[in-house]
Amino acid sequence: MGNTAVVVGGGIGGLAAAIGLHRIGWDVTILERSPVLEDAGAGISLAANGLRALDELGVGGAVRDASRGQYTGGTRTPRGGRLTRMDGSALEKAVGTPIMGIPRSTLHRLLREHLPAGSLEVDTEVTAVEQVGPGTVRVDCGTTALEADLVVAADGIGSAVRSRVLPGHPGPVYSGSTVLRAITEHAVDVRADFELTWGRGAEFGHIAFLDGRAEWHAVLSLPAGTRFADPLTELRRRFRTWHDPVLALLDATRPEAVLHHDVNELRAPLPAYTVGRIALLGDAAHAMTPNLGQGACQALEDAVTLAAALGAESTVETALARYDAERRPRSQAVAGAARQAGRMGQRLSHPLAVTLRNTAMRLTPSRAATRMILRHHVWVPPSLN
Ligand code: FAD
Repeated sequence: MGNTAVVVGGGIGGLAAAIGLHRIGWDVTILERSPVLEDAGAGISLAANGLRALDELGVGGAVRDASRGQYTGGTRTPRGGRLTRMDGSALEKAVGTPIMGIPRSTLHRLLREHLPAGSLEVDTEVTAVEQVGPGTVRVDCGTTALEADLVVAADGIGSAVRSRVLPGHPGPVYSGSTVLRAITEHAVDVRADFELTWGRGAEFGHIAFLDGRAEWHAVLSLPAGTRFADPLTELRRRFRTWHDPVLALLDATRPEAVLHHDVNELRAPLPAYTVGRIALLGDAAHAMTPNLGQGACQALEDAVTLAAALGAESTVETALARYDAERRPRSQAVAGAARQAGRMGQRLSHPLAVTLRNTAMRLTPSRAATRMILRHHVWVPPSLN
């Protein structure tokens, strides 16, 4: 089998895929349209499945060293009443690690440091991808073109490659929620490693980092495209009665650090993750709502599974069939569960429904809550050796 690959997109999924392909001996080129790798984004939680994928890629140790374990915290009501308790030690006992929190910029940097030298080309937008022969795919980027044995489309939720190879798919839709988030400028006494607070149609959460800073996010059920002239002032107004440290986190944030995005998802599941010699991966294949913190973890699973299949199978075709068969059911099930978690969490706004949910959560034994969290974290990576 030939062994050259072009990866479209240098996000978490694309970088991980390139590391995996390199590890099984393929020549990889990553094409990223952004001219500078500023790694805009706040923080990210990595669960055991994502960390295990990173281990298989040889990046797990460095990521763990730069992350903070989420041992304490849980879910609260706006007044601070506890709904569930985060038991990081129980997760650690069950799957070897608590959930870990890390700034996205650090995760991106660590992934880039594990790429083969010279494999990442920035400021290069892929404009077309086409299978030009049984074993060859052509990738156009403006004035230049490349040919490869395999193209990995890791170009995110708005994937142009997906639109091209699966033109019948309706594409992303608005989830009904918009999210504002930032990393604080300095360390904040946040009391817990991780916390999520659910009000009616609103959520506020934080992830603490190793250096004492924290990422916070505020999710609001609002029409798509809603934007605020002064986001921090608006959030202080909306969350003014919420428990500590919500206002302290907002106060520790520079206005220019606040990011605001509408949350979109691929609600219609893709009929295939591969078309000819083109494999869709990460958000391009299964962009999900962030309610389970699994989008990037699933992209990391994709990356390892794809590389392992290519390493084990005798043809690219059988490897891609195996990748599709192994990844589509699992990632689409996780996406469905994430959507459902959003419906039962911040999107719930009817007072009676909120009361019922809160009562059910309070009555759920801690062990059962841990088991529910673990449902998606238990995953054994295929070997790349
Ligand atoms: P992207 O990160 O979107 O990367 C795609 C890349 O492709 C970009 O760099 C883009 O510039 C490039 N690109 C696009 N088109 C082209 C083109 N034509 N040519 C060249 N380059 C191109 N997941 C978790 O696991 N844990 C969490 O805690 C978590 N929290 C989240 C919180 C929020 C608010 C949101 C919105 C998501 C969260 N996720 C989380 C999900 C996670 O961020 C995504 O699933 C993950 O980043 C997807 O990575 P990706 O590489 O597939 O796509």
